[in-house]
Amino acid sequence: MGLLDDKVAVITASGSGMGRASALKMTAEGAHVVVADIDEAAAAETVAMAVDAGGSASAHAVDVSDVSQIADLFAAVDRDHGRLDVLFAHAGIPGPPGIADVSEEDFDRTLDINLKSMFFSVARAIPVMEKAPSGSIIMTASVTGVVGSPFAPLYSLTKGGVVVFAKSAALHLAPKIRVNVICPGPVDTPMLPRFFGREPGADVSDLMQGFLDASVPLRRPAQPTEIGDVVLFLASDMSSFVTGVTMPVDGGFLAR
Ligand code: NAD
Repeated sequence: MGLLDDKVAVITASGSGMGRASALKMTAEGAHVVVADIDEAAAAETVAMAVDAGGSASAHAVDVSDVSQIADLFAAVDRDHGRLDVLFAHAGIPGPPGIADVSEEDFDRTLDINLKSMFFSVARAIPVMEKAPSGSIIMTASVTGVVGSPFAPLYSLTKGGVVVFAKSAALHLAPKIRVNVICPGPVDTPMLPRFFGREPGADVSDLMQGFLDASVPLRRPAQPTEIGDVVLFLASDMSSFVTGVTMPVDGGFLAR
């Protein structure tokens, strides 16, 4: 018996990092996972890893900045499975640093991927999720959706929007669908050095260790599987009375 036997899940940005780790956790617990990512080869690799481990998964190429592609994703899930139990909306990008030098084009792109995609993933998932007896939506924000970021105010703006949207969606979709948002601190994925490597010539590993020592009580980044464990908890009936929660998974960053 798995925690997610007979359930169907969609995970955006699951060709890498936390999305991939969560896909492998969910398939190991019996779910069929639709691995949705802009990088088709990366999505196929996650599927192969899940299948090799005895799980069930399929790949779907999607650019979440394009609402029509989001609609196609959930139409395909409806056609192929006729139901959706779990949505983990995880896609996001660091966006440009600073404020004064941010172009309108960069602003729009960051909002499209980090914020607009969250709204429309939920919006297009709802009709398919309503076909299942109950549902769980998990969105990925960041610790910088709860406290400000001096380095990436635009990223922080989008993640703050995700936090408040998740609370609103939890109220709007209760009692049938639960909605929660995770706020990771630094996580050891290909994205992590991109948060530190923005200054030309910056020593990324030095900057990163300085940040971890000063700001993360556990003094290390999370491994993607440690985020996957929390996502699995929120996806499954283990968290059946948990909705509207903003959950830091941050090694203590927000406790300071
Ligand atoms: P990652 O770099 O391991 O993977 C990112 C994935 O997103 C890749 O597979 C990529 O192909 C996919 N992707 C990029 N643009 C896309 C698009 N337009 N449509 C669909 N897929 C797209 O990243 P990760 O660290 O596992 O996760 C990223 C998410 O986690 C983002 O929402 C990010 O803001 C958030 N986050 C990351 C950290 C961290 O330290 N890594 C911390 C807090 C929050």
